[in-house]
Amino acid sequence: MRKSRLKEINAINKSSHDTQWRIGLVYPNSYAIGMSGLSVKLLYHLLNQHQNIFTERIFFSADLPGPPRSIETGKTLAQFDLLAFTFQFELDYVNAIRMLLRSNLPAKRNHRTSDHPILIAGGPAITANPQPLHDIVDIFFPGEFESVSNTFLEAIISSKYHGLMESILTVPGFYSSQDSPTQIKPIITSNLDEVNYPSAQVRPISGWIKKKGTLDGYFLQVSRGCAHGCHFCLIGKIFRPLRERSLETLKTLIDKGNIETSTNFFSLIGSSVADYSQIKELLQYFINKKLKFTLPSIRVDSGRDVLDVIKLAGQKSLSIAPESASDEIRFKIGKKFNNSQISSFVQRAEQNKLSEIKFYFILGLSNDPVSEAREIVSLINSLTELSPSVQFSISITPLIPKLGTKLDNKCVDYRNIQLGFNFLKKNLRKKVRYKSFPVRWAAIQAILSTGGSELTSKMINIAVKGGTFQSWKKILAEEPSDYYLKHYCH
Ligand code: SF4
Repeated sequence: MRKSRLKEINAINKSSHDTQWRIGLVYPNSYAIGMSGLSVKLLYHLLNQHQNIFTERIFFSADLPGPPRSIETGKTLAQFDLLAFTFQFELDYVNAIRMLLRSNLPAKRNHRTSDHPILIAGGPAITANPQPLHDIVDIFFPGEFESVSNTFLEAIISSKYHGLMESILTVPGFYSSQDSPTQIKPIITSNLDEVNYPSAQVRPISGWIKKKGTLDGYFLQVSRGCAHGCHFCLIGKIFRPLRERSLETLKTLIDKGNIETSTNFFSLIGSSVADYSQIKELLQYFINKKLKFTLPSIRVDSGRDVLDVIKLAGQKSLSIAPESASDEIRFKIGKKFNNSQISSFVQRAEQNKLSEIKFYFILGLSNDPVSEAREIVSLINSLTELSPSVQFSISITPLIPKLGTKLDNKCVDYRNIQLGFNFLKKNLRKKVRYKSFPVRWAAIQAILSTGGSELTSKMINIAVKGGTFQSWKKILAEEPSDYYLKHYCH
């Protein structure tokens, strides 16, 4: 069946006569996933700030045969001077290799020549651990891009073609994958009010997009980083400290975004938005302007004010992330609130007419995931009795240790986590909605997030075999230990 034509607002097109340089901004997963996050919108805006540089977006679609093509003009990867990959999740590494192979580009760095585009990689996964892509990528950029974006564009403009790589490497934060990465400190934007942020954001308005809901509206980043430092969390570790946009800047972005992105709907972005120092005033601003907003998960220990304003705005659902149903485990990983605070929070939410509460949990924080699952069942089932009018939804992920966090060395036996998942499915009340991240993919993600350059050849083999779980299993089976235990407890 032919797909209906995608229509977007604020997509950029530049005449090929004026553009001297072509950048492919590559998100190695589907359009729907890429466009439901901020990174593509932000990078697309920043990388198109110079009239002589045209940046186009390319996504990965497993179903479409042939080379991936850009959304804007249908170019293939090989037709760009530079390919900027953004990696939010490690599982996208194999997709990226599949994109290169489908485009007839050698996956390994030392098999490419100056006739091929230069590959740059950034994003949270790279900031935490670039090593699995060491032999694939030419240049790494760990950290936050906006404070060096103008210098980066100037470096490209001022380079002659064969000096492009050298010129980019003069920009702070960029380093050659041939150099040792351990000394490189990620670039962190110190003042969010001083950096460029898009008020005209690209978004789909019609076409072949299904479930457009998560792609709608304006993405308003309220803060960056986090002050809490939970032991498993990358944001609390590498994107420190917590930084906020000022209320004045946010109000200006709301007014401009409302017009330039042509929307009344705002998604608030930040690791702990309810902790924003002027959250009440910010939410009141939306209410005064009759604009709709949605908050990401909020902390159980957020002030009473937040729930009151949410009620005023008519929001019907919210999310919280207790991670564990055990006070002891929660305190150990750095989340300092207890189950009785969770119960009071749920009761207050019910009084404020919230009809749905979504809980995020992690399994595998202790060495006994089945006991963790038992405590989750006990907590959630008791909450359903306490607040019968609330719809409870729970989303569970296995622990995926991330390099650089306090739990990066934790041994996780994913078979036990699977037993915990089985227990949950069997024992949660029917009315509780339940969603889980597949254990087998979590085990693979853990290998990628803690592994090194020895993974490169394996990933290329897996990409050649289609990137399926079976291909992973086959390649990993060639090794002595069981893949379920293979992310290394050093
Ligand atoms: S889990 Fe949430 S509160 Fe904890 S460090 Fe990460 S972003 Fe902050």
